[in-house]
Amino acid sequence: MTRTTPERPADIEAQFPELSQNRRTSTRLHPRQGSPTPHESSVAGPFLWPASEPWPMCTAPHSKGTGHLLADVRRERRILDAAWRRDPQNGPSETELETLAGFKAGVHAPNVSDGDPIPLLAVAQLFTRDIQDLAGPEGYDLLQVLWCPFEAHGPDHTIDVVLKWRRSTNVTDTLPGNPEPVVVGRKECVPNTCVLHPERIVEHEYAGLLSEELQESIELWEEELLDAEEDSASVGSYSSYAEYEAAAGGETSERDEVTYQHDLSIPPGWKTGGFASWHLTDPAPVTCSCGTAMRPLLTIHDREWDNGTLSWVPLEDRDTAHTPGANVPTGVYLGRGLMQIFTCPTDPTHPHRLNFQ
Ligand SMILES: [Zn+2]
Ligand SMILES: [Zn+2]
Repeated sequence: MTRTTPERPADIEAQFPELSQNRRTSTRLHPRQGSPTPHESSVAGPFLWPASEPWPMCTAPHSKGTGHLLADVRRERRILDAAWRRDPQNGPSETELETLAGFKAGVHAPNVSDGDPIPLLAVAQLFTRDIQDLAGPEGYDLLQVLWCPFEAHGPDHTIDVVLKWRRSTNVTDTLPGNPEPVVVGRKECVPNTCVLHPERIVEHEYAGLLSEELQESIELWEEELLDAEEDSASVGSYSSYAEYEAAAGGETSERDEVTYQHDLSIPPGWKTGGFASWHLTDPAPVTCSCGTAMRPLLTIHDREWDNGTLSWVPLEDRDTAHTPGANVPTGVYLGRGLMQIFTCPTDPTHPHRLNFQ
């Protein structure tokens, strides 16, 4: 099934033509749990990896005594997922809670020592044929993203991400299955296996990076829009959004006004390309060691949507948008929910940089 982002609730470029100078395409990946093959783009799916090539390992020492068994992380998610689907009001039963309580951190892997190298987790493999906004080195058509399942690298104690670009036609003898760590540092570093439904969209620069004049004009427009909505129960040009809000259940906690930041600028969820969001920190330049301004390659977001970004829910997901777990298909939560991987447009093999929001 494809995924289709609804038309934006306002034509912001018609309102502010100068925004056409601050437009980029991006590709929303729309991960959904499934069973991809090594020949498909995926989150955590089996990688198209040459059998003769060593799998990347993290050799940094990690305190495995505080980690979780990867098998337990997956069992816990399966139990919780089934429980919430069965009983959206109460979730897991007493028996299930007892089972979950048995999944204690750090006590199940006595044979794994802190200094043992750890296979990196397969996070995503993206084929350029599926994703137009994937800017890699000339001639390479496959990006594989891996990371260490412990968040304790470098001076900031963050996650260690490895990017591997390859020519898929060079892989003739494929490794059967991804090597995996026995123990992971944090459950939220473990991605669920997902198929992708890439969709190219248009986005606009993060508000704080627009000119001050434009920011002020947009704020004024948002206020006028809010006043108009308060004055009138039905605003013609926003009927499709209003209809959607009603269809989505009309919970009172849901935001019903249209704003640039939430609805017209940068979509939520996993995506390639486009603009970076700076909603937690002030915008900061991300510069390559060669001096070039870097661009977002891949954005890893904990939620595909929430109450603040419901206008981005794909048409195909409207009926299940409020099903528990529907908006968090990957299970990954880094930073305060968002990790952005930047690469150099001059040479994508220059070392990448990470930003957390
Ligand atoms: Zn590590
Ligand atoms: Zn560079």
